[in-house]
Amino acid sequence: MTHRTIDCDDFLSDLAKRTPGEDAFHQSVAEIIPDLIPIVNENPEYREFALLERLTEPDRIVSFRVDWRDDDNVAHVNRGYRVQFNSAIGPYKGGLRFHPTVNQSVLKFLGFEQTFKNALTGLPMGGGKGGADFDPAGRSAAEIMRFCQSFMQELHRHIGPDIDIPAGDINVGAREIGWMFGEYRRITNQFAGVLTGKGLSFGGSEMRTEATGYGVVQLLCHMLAERDDSIDGKTIVVSGAGNVATFAAELAMCKGGRVVTLSDSRGFIHDAAGLTQDKIDWVRQHKSKPGASLEAYADTFDATWHAGKTPWDVACDIALPCATQNELDADGVKALIANGCAAIVEGANMPTTRAAQAAIREAGLLFAPGKAANAGGVAVSGLEISQNRQRRTQSRDDLADALQDIMQTIHDTCAEAGRTTSGIDYAKGANVAGFRKVADAMYAAGVA
Ligand code: NDP
Repeated sequence: MTHRTIDCDDFLSDLAKRTPGEDAFHQSVAEIIPDLIPIVNENPEYREFALLERLTEPDRIVSFRVDWRDDDNVAHVNRGYRVQFNSAIGPYKGGLRFHPTVNQSVLKFLGFEQTFKNALTGLPMGGGKGGADFDPAGRSAAEIMRFCQSFMQELHRHIGPDIDIPAGDINVGAREIGWMFGEYRRITNQFAGVLTGKGLSFGGSEMRTEATGYGVVQLLCHMLAERDDSIDGKTIVVSGAGNVATFAAELAMCKGGRVVTLSDSRGFIHDAAGLTQDKIDWVRQHKSKPGASLEAYADTFDATWHAGKTPWDVACDIALPCATQNELDADGVKALIANGCAAIVEGANMPTTRAAQAAIREAGLLFAPGKAANAGGVAVSGLEISQNRQRRTQSRDDLADALQDIMQTIHDTCAEAGRTTSGIDYAKGANVAGFRKVADAMYAAGVA
């Protein structure tokens, strides 16, 4: 039996018909599929196994009601999700996000990306993502704790050390993971490594907190080294002021870069003299308060505050978007280029719009996608799973070395798969290398 070759536009329009209204998911598939179609068309067995169609359909999606009471005893209802996207190479693994923008489409895009990212780490982890449309901004710690407990009342049925091991993401840090882990233990009477990003005293891993942001900068350094260049003396614009942004800024600074911006959902700060460790520590401490705005930075240090704006107009050599999806559009890319930017490395998941990606490609900027650049976090999560399974802990130095090795391997893997006559296309390299691993495992598993 012969199988017709796949046309990219037809595939994407079929997907849009099958999954109406899921714009973020369509965007993430459209970014990856053009690099995969030639491989699938060259491999009749992939077409026979409908690999692309199966890869773009999650294994399952669980959606559930999360009810909780606020401090005035008023009852609220939110919607929780777990998207178990693909377990061809290992148990589902991916973060939980609490944000009002969370919906099925956003979590499908994140789970799809996660599948490729986890494959790139070289560790046996499938892709998943979850969360809730809960907005913790301005909520007390007690309210957020009750929400986490109620969320786990349902989630515990769907996860397990050999099934699905969630972690944190936007608005879900070590504190929230601790509350959810405590609830899991209460419900199941089991001390199992069922979440990563835990506190160090109850099974967490050294280096997990720093891993994503540090990994972003490590990948950037490898990309620059490939061109006989380095980060030393470069001016760097960072967006976000959370976990990824602050640790990316920290390592960039340690390696001799001058980080001049951070941002949050209300605007950005421009500190022309550059961030220092003291300033980064202040940001972490300040942003840990409920509803705190970065604006206070400009009242505390010699910096300017730009309400409602993104930092892409600031002159720089390198931009690291580390806040959220679609935060950098084509105008932002054009402004960056006009002001001297030559490299963009994604700390966040899908921070660049499709038009921004086109502008990056057209200008020939050095670029790394989030699925490669921010994989350090899930890689150290993978090492946390191994430590939990073996009931042992690894030293900080060992884990720092392991993270370095993994980011070097991710660089080399993407470079090899993305090498073209005109240089290295890291985005293509990440898509192709991640796909090959997952596709081979799906093929080996057969289809009913
Ligand atoms: P945090 O919650 O620690 O920080 C998120 C930051 O982004 C905050 O400064 C927040 O501002 C800002 N932000 C959130 N939404 C918006 C928005 N719509 N517009 C502008 N700014 C916004 O999250 P992380 O640092 O953990 O995650 C950041 C990105 O990195 C996400 O895309 C996440 O999926 C990705 N990522 C994270 C990993 C991790 O290990 N943490 C691993 C891999 C990817 P405010 O404080 O005002 O809300």
